Amino acid sequence: MKTTARVVVIGGGVVGVGTLYHLAKKGWSDVALIERKELTSGSTWHAAGLLPLFNLSYSVGQLHKYSVNLYGSLEAETGQSVGFKKVSNIRLARTKTRWDEFMYYAGVAETIGVKVNKLTPQQVKEIWPLCNTEGLLGAIQHPDDGYIQPADLTQAFAKGARNRGAEIYRNTTVIGIERTTSGEWLVKTDKGDIQCEHIVSASGNFARQTGKMLGLDIPVIPVEHQYIVTEPHPAVQERHAKGLPEMGVLREADSSWYLREEAGGFILGPYEKGAPVCYVDGPHKDSEYELFQEDLDRLAPHIGRRLAACGMDC
Ligand SMILES: Cc1cc2nc3c(=O)[nH]c(=O)nc-3n(C[C@H](O)[C@H](O)[C@H](O)COP(=O)(O)OP(=O)(O)OC[C@H]3O[C@@H](n4cnc5c(N)ncnc54)[C@H](O)[C@@H]3O)c2cc1C
Repeated sequence: MKTTARVVVIGGGVVGVGTLYHLAKKGWSDVALIERKELTSGSTWHAAGLLPLFNLSYSVGQLHKYSVNLYGSLEAETGQSVGFKKVSNIRLARTKTRWDEFMYYAGVAETIGVKVNKLTPQQVKEIWPLCNTEGLLGAIQHPDDGYIQPADLTQAFAKGARNRGAEIYRNTTVIGIERTTSGEWLVKTDKGDIQCEHIVSASGNFARQTGKMLGLDIPVIPVEHQYIVTEPHPAVQERHAKGLPEMGVLREADSSWYLREEAGGFILGPYEKGAPVCYVDGPHKDSEYELFQEDLDRLAPHIGRRLAACGMDC
């Protein structure tokens, strides 16, 4: 392991490895990343990979647009697929307030240069035949949106970073951080120490523990998020057999869920109100590719609303 670097990134999830890639791309090749287990063994391994281009902030919208463009070109650069499926993203509006928000957003998107189509309920039905369009006012569609495979994207970032001289140390844990008399940082690991000018902490659910190493009390607590992966659905399989395209990512903000095709069935991800907090004192030191015990009762109200939106056939 090297003993000095300009930057040490802590954490080998998509955020840490993406940061490493961008530092190296900017010409900072003397950079290193430290991951306690394997790359993507934190939250990144379980993400649904949705991109959402939709953002009411001009600057965050620019970041999303940059990311979506990058996902389109990263494979050509690194030879590693990121599993980008540009299937589009459709957001349903069932209330006037939601529709007004979408129209405001469409103005922001236009300034950023993000494509947005306005869809009538009939057009939604043509693209998403399983969607119950009764009472629907309309929808907006991002034709350039879709989803990626988070683990593949992280590996592509890792390849691009390594190709530019960055180093990644897996199965290595940061156990302490000290300030040196020269004003640099000494990152202490279980495999040796690295002195550096800058530290980037991208330690995900361990953020509070990493913060403590610097005397910081980081005011962030994770909450649990569940999604459901269904069995293959006959209507989806029939579409595949006919060579029809994926129906795209469907979202409904008022009842708060996302739905997309997955392996001939669906992924349904509700955003639960009052989802329980987790990892208050950080994950266990051996935590890796961790799953919580499912609690489907908590999801029942969301599933009901999803069925109402998609029709009972769905
Ligand atoms: C079920 C689910 C679905 C999701 N769906 C989406 C989605 O569709 N779209 C989306 O954008 N986001 C989604 N997310 C959120 C997304 O997964 C996270 O925002 C993202 O993966 C966070 O990445 P990260 O790199 O910050 O953290 P992580 O992936 O958790 O990586 C942090 C890494 O730091 C390492 N680490 C911690 N402490 C140390 C240490 N002391 N020394 C060395 N290494 C250390 C850990 O081992 C870990 O690998 C979803 C999340 C979940 C749980």
